[in-house]
Amino acid sequence: MSCGCTSKLKNGKDVCDHVKSKGKENFPPQMAHIITCECGESFTLQTIVMNCPKCNMTYAVTPCGSADKNNIKAAGINYA
Ligand SMILES: [Zn+2]
Repeated sequence: MSCGCTSKLKNGKDVCDHVKSKGKENFPPQMAHIITCECGESFTLQTIVMNCPKCNMTYAVTPCGSADKNNIKAAGINYA
């Protein structure tokens, strides 16, 4: 069952704030997605809030939305 939070969160900052407000930023995603960052770096999303190892762009996804790569959003450089 989905918690429905994904539809209310419009951008990466909302997602990041939501996940951190629940204290879940260090939770693993349901699937380990490979992210290709804007800077050209590819890395594996190991936690649902994680920074690009190269440019520190913060990526965030909700726990319930983490099975779908399309739900992963960029929140901004060093946002987390
Ligand atoms: Zn990057």
